[in-house]
Amino acid sequence: MSRRPAANLTEADPPATTDLETIKSLLPYLWPKGQFEMRARVAVALACLVMAKVASVYIPVLYKKAVDLISGGAFDYTVLLWIVVAYGMTRLGQQAFAQLREFFFARVAQRAIRSVAIKTFRHLHRLSLRFHLDRQTGGLTRVIERGTKAIEFLLNFMLFNILPTLFEIFLVCGVLWWMFDFFYAIATFGTIFSYIAFTMLVTEWRLKIRRRMNMMDNRANTSAVDSLLNYETVKYFGNETHEEERYDRSMQGYEDAAVKSRTSLSLVNVGQGGIIAVGLMVFMVLAGKDLAAGKATVGDFVMVNTYLIQLYLPLNFLGFVYREIKQSLTDMQQMFLLLDEEAEIKDVAGAKNLVVEKGAVRFDNVTFGYSTDRQILNGIRFDVPAGKTVALVGPSGAGKSTISRLLFRFYDIDDGAILIDDQDIRSVTQASLRQAIGIVPQDTVLFNDTIYYNIAYGKPGASQSQIEEAARLARIHDFVMSLPDGYETTVGERGLKLSGGEKQRVAIARTLLKQPKIFLFDEATSALDSQTEKEIQSSLSEISQNYTTLVIAHRLSTVVDAYEIIVLRDGGIAERGNHESLLAQNGIYATMWRQQMREESVSEPVGELTAGEVTV
Ligand code: ATP
Repeated sequence: MSRRPAANLTEADPPATTDLETIKSLLPYLWPKGQFEMRARVAVALACLVMAKVASVYIPVLYKKAVDLISGGAFDYTVLLWIVVAYGMTRLGQQAFAQLREFFFARVAQRAIRSVAIKTFRHLHRLSLRFHLDRQTGGLTRVIERGTKAIEFLLNFMLFNILPTLFEIFLVCGVLWWMFDFFYAIATFGTIFSYIAFTMLVTEWRLKIRRRMNMMDNRANTSAVDSLLNYETVKYFGNETHEEERYDRSMQGYEDAAVKSRTSLSLVNVGQGGIIAVGLMVFMVLAGKDLAAGKATVGDFVMVNTYLIQLYLPLNFLGFVYREIKQSLTDMQQMFLLLDEEAEIKDVAGAKNLVVEKGAVRFDNVTFGYSTDRQILNGIRFDVPAGKTVALVGPSGAGKSTISRLLFRFYDIDDGAILIDDQDIRSVTQASLRQAIGIVPQDTVLFNDTIYYNIAYGKPGASQSQIEEAARLARIHDFVMSLPDGYETTVGERGLKLSGGEKQRVAIARTLLKQPKIFLFDEATSALDSQTEKEIQSSLSEISQNYTTLVIAHRLSTVVDAYEIIVLRDGGIAERGNHESLLAQNGIYATMWRQQMREESVSEPVGELTAGEVTV
């Protein structure tokens, strides 16, 4: 079983893959298999790109022709007119091809972004609970957000800025060499490659600062999200100042890194400007000398200048693009690293669907710990016979909820086996296993949507009457109907606008709607007052009458009718039997029972037990 600490993606050092590998991993999305339309779009877009660049290199040649004609004394006006028309048409052509390229490629780029985003999202849902508990959701969603933005940037700029600019540089060098001599080509090359080398070197150094900035940004964001999600807890403890300080610490780190990033940018700009200025001077000296020697015309001098200016503009842009591309590559690597993350719990090859006939559950000598250095369950053995209800009770932290997580296969056990109708849950598909079990968890979290949506979640596509029926059974229908917006009431983030008991009842309703073969109630009614609890208990026992049910109970009065009650303690089963036999044993259960009876007679409803007391 994998226990490796998951790589911290949100604040990780850059992964070990090279930039080239990252770019390569993007290619299948750009040339998608079996999608003829997308491939045709890419091909046409590339053709448009080449045409646009050829036109842009030809523009200064036409300009030169016009200047030569004008500066040569008397000239034929009609010829000038034709040159000017050709000049205008070529310019228009260049623009038109550039826009056509955009037109054809936009869908390819957006489709690639969508495919990667969906793939990552799907993968995140496949990853195991341990992975998600180790991460902060705010950080994860930012990785995806930044990753998809990075892809968009890379596609647009890599394909349609960097590559075309390089292509144009080579074209211009070729034209200059052909029209003048080798030195013009060398001067162009020298200037441009010094510029590129300088930009790359300095940007590499600056990227370290950028990464720190990102890390601080992530940290600030996750601490803000965490703090706001815990809004109530912050208020309970009056810790607003503490939260503010925590947030400010991350923001201060961000501020420092951002200032450093900004000031180092000036250094880059000055260096780049210097290289271009030197290049320009060399070029003009060369052209001026040839003009003086009568080897070049005024038109040539103008053309050389136009080329320089034409190249200089995208080159100026290249600095920014290079920086952004490096950043985008880092962001994309992080997203692809998420995709490389292996799911801890996987279906075995050829896993079959779980076939539930009776729904008998068996924990056979189950040993488990969340980490290797601490065992939570130690050789647990019990049966939930088909159609019967078994209750798990015991002190807080004894491992009761762990048992429910194991049955759901959120984790794999270290030893022993968990069987449903004699099928080891590791040998069946996770989807079929989870389909068969309906759980009402201890902490119910609802989607930030309507009550209707949250109940319907148990069975997508359920009819309104089915949903209302489930709500009636969970004793929430009347409450919902009393709300001004009824089932359309929104529940707020994580269901915060509902009380604990209302949330629990929504959770019960959606599980009832699911109609699973096996029920698992993890303190499902703990937040309810005893009256509502009794009512729900009676509907639950009615519904689960012929279903296998595992109940994790806080209040013992709710499980007196259970077929068997298992008392967990220190990772093992301390006592077991039905209510009467456990009372007769006069052990832990009997003590807990008497204690609860006493409390119930003192206060009604029963409150949470105070620290130090045995909670069951
Ligand atoms: P309670 O009645 O308070 O809900 P419980 O019996 O359901 O308690 P579990 O939630 O099963 O207790 O937890 C058993 C032990 O495992 C606890 O000591 C808890 O700290 C530990 N534990 C639970 N979840 C994790 C986790 N994801 N990683 C590491 N340890 C965990």
